[in-house]
Amino acid sequence: MNQTLTLALSKGRIFEETLPLLEAAGIVVLEDPEKSRKLILPTSDPQLRVIIVRASDVPTYVQYGAADFGVAGKDVLLEHGGEGLYQPVDLNIAKCRMSVAVPAGFDYAHAVRQGARLRVATKYVQVAREHFAAKGLHVDMIKLYGSMELGPLVGLSDAIVDLVSTGSTLRANHLVEVEHIMDISSRLVVNRAALKLKREKLQPIIDAFESASQRGNGS
Ligand code: ATP
Ligand code: MG
Repeated sequence: MNQTLTLALSKGRIFEETLPLLEAAGIVVLEDPEKSRKLILPTSDPQLRVIIVRASDVPTYVQYGAADFGVAGKDVLLEHGGEGLYQPVDLNIAKCRMSVAVPAGFDYAHAVRQGARLRVATKYVQVAREHFAAKGLHVDMIKLYGSMELGPLVGLSDAIVDLVSTGSTLRANHLVEVEHIMDISSRLVVNRAALKLKREKLQPIIDAFESASQRGNGS
C-alpha cells in the first residue's frame, strides 16, 4: 500500500499554529505559503506533503480522500457536518469563541424577552440556527461569507454570530458581545479509509500531534 500522505491546512493561523505540532513529529514544511504561490508544499518527509486550501474547504478535501488528514476549526466542522471524518484530537490551537454581537445601544435582552423576530447575519448558519432555536427565538438568518461586523452597521441585520478572540474587531465597529455560544479550537480530522489503509504512517503523526497539543502548544 502506498503510504504517501497529504495534509490539508489553511493559510494563516492554522498553518502557523500547526507548524510546532509538525515539528514535534519531526516534520518541517519546506516552503512558506505566505511567500510562495504554490498550493502543494513539500516537507522534510518525502512521504508527506501539505496542501493549502480555504479553511472551510479542509473537511471536504479530507472527506473525499484528496487529503488524508487536515486541521479544521470546530466552527468549520460543525457547518460541514463532519461526514466521513474521524476526529481523534482537539489540537487546542486557533482558539476563540463563537458569540452573538449587536450594536452598542441595542437592547438585546429586551428584544429576546419580547420574542422579537431578529435578523441575524452570519457565516455560521447551522450553529446560529440551533442556538436561537434552543432559546425559542425566531430569527431570519442572512448568510454571509465574511466581514459579518458590517451587517448591523448598514442595517443588514440586528445581530451577528461571529468568532471573537480579543474583541478588538467588535469594539472597532461599535459592537458588543451579548452571548457566548461556544468555545472554538481546531481539531485534527482524518479520512476514515486512510486511517485504516495508511495507519502505519499516520498513527505516529497523530500521536505526536496529540502529545504536543497536550503540552500546550499554540495556546
Ligand atoms: P477565509 O479566510 O478562508 O474566509 P476564515 O476567515 O474562517 O476563512 P481564518 O481566519 O484563517 O479563515 O480562520 C481559520 C480558523 O481559525 C477558523 O475556522 C476558526 O476556527 C479559527 N479562527 C478564526 N478567527 C479566529 C480568531 N480571531 N482567533 C482565533 N482563531 C480564530
Ligand atoms: Mg479570516
